[in-house]
Amino acid sequence: MRDFAAELDARREAGLNRTRRLVRGPQQPSLIADDTSLLAFCSNDYLGLASHPEVCTALTAAVADVGVGGAASHLICGHHDYHHQLEQRLADLTGRTAALFFSTGYMANLGVISALVGRGDTVFSDRLNHASIIDGCLLSRARIQRYPHNDMAGLADRLAATSGHKLVVTDGVFSMDGDMAPLRELAALCREHDALLLVDDAHGLGVLGERGAGSLEHLGLSEQEVPLLIGTLGKAVGTSGAFVAGPQLLIDYLVQKARTYIYTTAMPPAVAKATCVALDLVEQGQARRRHLAHLIRRFREESKALGYQLMPSATPIQPIMVGDNWTALELSRQLEDRGLLVTAIRPPTVPEGQARLRVTLSAAHTDADLDRLLTALAECRPEPEA
Ligand code: PMP
Repeated sequence: MRDFAAELDARREAGLNRTRRLVRGPQQPSLIADDTSLLAFCSNDYLGLASHPEVCTALTAAVADVGVGGAASHLICGHHDYHHQLEQRLADLTGRTAALFFSTGYMANLGVISALVGRGDTVFSDRLNHASIIDGCLLSRARIQRYPHNDMAGLADRLAATSGHKLVVTDGVFSMDGDMAPLRELAALCREHDALLLVDDAHGLGVLGERGAGSLEHLGLSEQEVPLLIGTLGKAVGTSGAFVAGPQLLIDYLVQKARTYIYTTAMPPAVAKATCVALDLVEQGQARRRHLAHLIRRFREESKALGYQLMPSATPIQPIMVGDNWTALELSRQLEDRGLLVTAIRPPTVPEGQARLRVTLSAAHTDADLDRLLTALAECRPEPEA
């Protein structure tokens, strides 16, 4: 039998072991983790909506109305009016013709990619795409061409050298670096090479664009330019689930073909109802987005002045680059000693030698919260090398 214990030991020795924190009570930004009170800078609740009273009230009212369980899969008898309302709301917010609601972003990427391409087709995927995109590509059995991060010339060469059906897939905002994909250039390349473009905007939705519709609204990209958009609802929107939005034909096709949509119990409809209320807050969330932008500016200026190395990110994902796994763990531990929760991210989530502290900012943070983080970072600053 395979030596699982030895593999776990090896991970531990390489500083790669992951731990789960036991969180009790409300979740953001102050929380109790492993019985310690901590201020978190690692959640994806970018707008602070996860515990918003209006969303909580909508959820409990909907549960009182329709119960808890999802009952069955959508194509059996689980497709509830609340799911339908949410899909229309998502299409409306994102300016797309139609939308399809999935239980998680992971399942959306698996189901959509594996439905759109198969044996003999080619999928082009940015090297830093999220794990669920990588797994969707593998599941599809299409040929996979991973192009260097945001390298449009590299992608153009690969597209030109390939015949047959082509799908290009990219994160809108990269989950571990916080930078954006060059979506205008990608849209133009896909048009030129007759490739279908799919953008996973898990980290742009709610944060970017005047109405919070994400990277595509921010750049003014229409459904003609970017046919398929995936968004997740467990991050800035503060609830749970995900969706794909695009032309009616493709959504109709996915209803028939996306196995992670077809062969799973529908998300509890009450969650869909609460998500509609959360989307109203997202759409009217200009003040939250302004406050978040202010925190991002402050964090970047002040942590750079302390000598920390950041990535070129204008989003709430602000990784502090460290390099070595143990140094990243040690910095995370020192911050925790000061009451702050910032997780160290290590390979394989990020490339070898690029361990980091993934700081995420939220509109729920106050300036005083940020002061605490910056003061702690000043105290924990690694000694400059002689
Ligand atoms: N896509 C991206 C870019 C993500 O960062 C994530 C989650 N971290 C997902 C998809 C998966 O979404 P979910 O958590 O809803 O499964």
